[in-house]
Amino acid sequence: MRILQNYVGGKWTDSASGRRRQSFNQANRDELICETQDSTPADAEAALRIAAEAFPAWSHTPMPRRAALLQEFLKHFGTREEEFARAITRENGKTLRESRTEFLAAFKEAEFQVGQGRRTAGASRPSELPGVTCHLRREPLGVATLITPWNFPLNVACRKLIPALIAGNTCVLKPADLTPMTAALLFESLHAAGLPPGVANLVFGRGSVIGDTIVTHPAVKALSFTGSTEVGLGIAQKLAGRDTKIQLELGGKNPLVVLADADLDKAVEAAIIGGFGCSGQWCTSTSRVIVEAGIHDTFLAKLIAGVKAIVVGDGSDEAVKMGPVCGSQQYETILKFIEVGKQEGARLAIGGNALTEDRNAQGWFIAPTVFADVAPEMVIAREEIFGPVVVVLKARDFDDAVRLANDTRYGLASSLYTRDLAKAQRFIAESGVGLCHVNLPTAYKEPQLEFGGVKESGRGNPEAGDSGIEFFTRHKAVYVKDQP
Ligand code: NAP
Ligand code: MG
Repeated sequence: MRILQNYVGGKWTDSASGRRRQSFNQANRDELICETQDSTPADAEAALRIAAEAFPAWSHTPMPRRAALLQEFLKHFGTREEEFARAITRENGKTLRESRTEFLAAFKEAEFQVGQGRRTAGASRPSELPGVTCHLRREPLGVATLITPWNFPLNVACRKLIPALIAGNTCVLKPADLTPMTAALLFESLHAAGLPPGVANLVFGRGSVIGDTIVTHPAVKALSFTGSTEVGLGIAQKLAGRDTKIQLELGGKNPLVVLADADLDKAVEAAIIGGFGCSGQWCTSTSRVIVEAGIHDTFLAKLIAGVKAIVVGDGSDEAVKMGPVCGSQQYETILKFIEVGKQEGARLAIGGNALTEDRNAQGWFIAPTVFADVAPEMVIAREEIFGPVVVVLKARDFDDAVRLANDTRYGLASSLYTRDLAKAQRFIAESGVGLCHVNLPTAYKEPQLEFGGVKESGRGNPEAGDSGIEFFTRHKAVYVKDQP
């Protein structure tokens, strides 16, 4: 059992509260993993003040020099895959294979952003006037507050921290209460890289306790949040009218559309990866599968057969394909949605219960669940369940499928399985999402492309790709005449 401290001004420190919070293994709730600081608003304020003090020197450090320091971070971080994977599996519940995938994704995204440090400082433009040169400078914003969720405790933290720092901002990260260990390990690598004190700070604690301080403090000029739509839109409201730039990555209800001409086996595989990977707790998880009527029954039979083969258990066992869900609150919410689905008349095709026998008795295990005969107005077709529950809707034809896919307040990811290029092009144009796929799972992504949603799935610039640094900078247009 480790005791984790906040990391403020380059030092590991205790909260002034003197209180600690405990974290347990999701596959075995008797196993205490660590204790973290139960920080107070005063702790958070001190971290923000120190970040503000570190900003002038860091923002004036040449960008390639900042990138070189973060290269040192990558070197240290890059050797720790197994340590991170085991920590993520214990505190989040996902399988070791999934945790290793998260590590590699985080590394690749960080590497891409560090590489941007030599090319994204601005742009030049021609002038109408002789003897005048024009250019666009990109300048850092100031202190950035970064608030991260438990479902990708490493990847999301890296996706925010690295571009914020490369761009010259100083940061305070608040990780999710359920997954503190990964954040502490990440800051060990930042510390080892020799970043100047105060540039990157870590404050543990509850969002409900320190959230208002880290969101509304006047030093905060950038706020990047990943989490629920409810909390995210609340933050946007608190910041209305303030000069704090916001970036919100929120929930989803992501559709996978399967047309009659699709490769059904590949489509089933995508539904299983997207629906049950990380126990359905990706923001890009497939939660609605929309199937064209002609192949509906065949597809459903294949999907059920695939789901039957999913081995559920402790993610640290290499034979396991799906781990527990993350914590008691998730567990209860997901089981409640399953009950709602049964009550509103959807047909339970497989699963639909908690797994509490034998080795699963001590963890938050839920059987992979598929509902069929789901009507678009049902709660389970509309609300983000964020668990191992897939709902299957029948579409009359392609037009009906596109309409159903877009019939949601969310707009994060979508996918279409077809061999028809014209339909694929129409889907790409009409799908109301930030990430659109054809013949790939809804969760597929690469670091050089932007990541973020539309509608109630996001606000502000997306993360990653060119937008990673774009978000954490402002533009300044510069005109210079060479003769006074
Ligand atoms: P959540 O309650 O919104 O928590 C997310 C983060 O916000 C946590 O660090 C949390 O701290 C903090 N927080 C809570 N209340 C706050 C407040 N009033 N002010 C400031 N920060 C606050 O979300 P969750 O229920 O844990 O996570 C699941 C949700 O995240 C799902 O809806 C999922 O779709 C979404 N998500 C979206 C993406 C994406 O990229 N679009 C990625 C991952 C997850 P505590 O842990 O201390 O409460
Ligand atoms: Mg919450």
